[in-house]
Amino acid sequence: MYDSKAYSAASAISPLAPTTISRREPAASDVQIEILYCGICHSDLHQVRDEWNAVMPAVYPVVPGHEIVGRVTKAGSAVTGFRPGDLAAVGCLVDSDGTCQQCLDGFEQFCPNATFTYNAPDKHTGGVTYGGYSDSIVVDERFVLRVPANLDLAGVAPLLCAGITTYSPLRHWGVSAGMKVGVVGLGGLGHMGVKFAHAFGAHVVVLSTSPGKRDDARRLGADEVVISTDAAEMEKHAGSFDFILDTVAVVHDVNAYVQLLKRDGTLTLVGAPVDPHAVSAFGLLFGRKSIAGSLIGGIAETQEMLDFCGAHGITADVEVIPIQKVNEAYERLLKSDVKYRFSIDMASLKEG
Ligand code: NAP
Ligand code: ZN
Repeated sequence: MYDSKAYSAASAISPLAPTTISRREPAASDVQIEILYCGICHSDLHQVRDEWNAVMPAVYPVVPGHEIVGRVTKAGSAVTGFRPGDLAAVGCLVDSDGTCQQCLDGFEQFCPNATFTYNAPDKHTGGVTYGGYSDSIVVDERFVLRVPANLDLAGVAPLLCAGITTYSPLRHWGVSAGMKVGVVGLGGLGHMGVKFAHAFGAHVVVLSTSPGKRDDARRLGADEVVISTDAAEMEKHAGSFDFILDTVAVVHDVNAYVQLLKRDGTLTLVGAPVDPHAVSAFGLLFGRKSIAGSLIGGIAETQEMLDFCGAHGITADVEVIPIQKVNEAYERLLKSDVKYRFSIDMASLKEG
């Protein structure tokens, strides 16, 4: 074991604070990565504040962070794909059983024995996994991603969660030219959804509660912006969407978006409030509409997404912050004040 600097939360009401954690020495199949940037996902806030207690209770101290990019410092003897000095990235998963049907089909995220990057039982240490708000991490090579060399690293980090979580459902539901696609919520996930849907050729409409984000939405690739609190504006789009991706982190009226779908349209939820949404059956019946969900993406698809980003020059729009500003960043997330992902410059961790 070796010491690694990190930021952790001691309880649901504690701010994140500096700490030292123990990491395992890399075994034969492991890659050790010096973390350069880590994105701040709203899921980090849900977990740190134990908002997901009913589904995934937090085990404190929590070291969050699952949008990790850095440089390889050591590679175990059996590692074939990485060498010290290579760029490398890690997302929401660090292990799975590799043998179940989900894993065989490339859906490691649905493996019943998947290990999430933080706050999950760690078979190596007997404790819990610690995430990327840290200067170093050790991960089995199967869960380490290759990073295209042409991209800005601070903007690459968020691709590992916000990127794949939006890329995967847009691909699964076949978003392409000729389709009208809505993205609800212009935050970390939403802004990546806009970039991908635009890159796939769709007509993209941002559905936002924030009138101040209109210009940014267009710059990011939206063809239209609808302020979702304006009933008249919403009504103009009734029955017109093929697909809507809903990234909102709190319980809200999903029926307002179902009524925007065409016949056979789908509203896919990726936002993850723990309390249930109220769904009107009638809203679905008339038009044979669907509400669906989607969880990150498998490892092969995550690599495909990174390669797509490399080929198309896509990264997240980030506000780079030192880790000392992480608690302030969480408060801003709660106010929908993020443009459009915080990316922590991990060099700041050296300062304490
Ligand atoms: P975020 O950056 O905070 O963005 C959420 C956006 O939702 C806000 O910027 C805001 O956009 C909108 N919003 C906020 N409050 C709202 C309200 N009361 N009504 C309507 N819209 C509201 O969060 P994020 O990091 O993108 O994460 C979003 C959610 O996805 C979280 O619940 C997170 O846990 C979840 N998540 C799920 C997965 C998965 O695999 N399914 C992966 C990662 C994250 P506007 O200002 O434009 O309205
Ligand atoms: Zn995330």
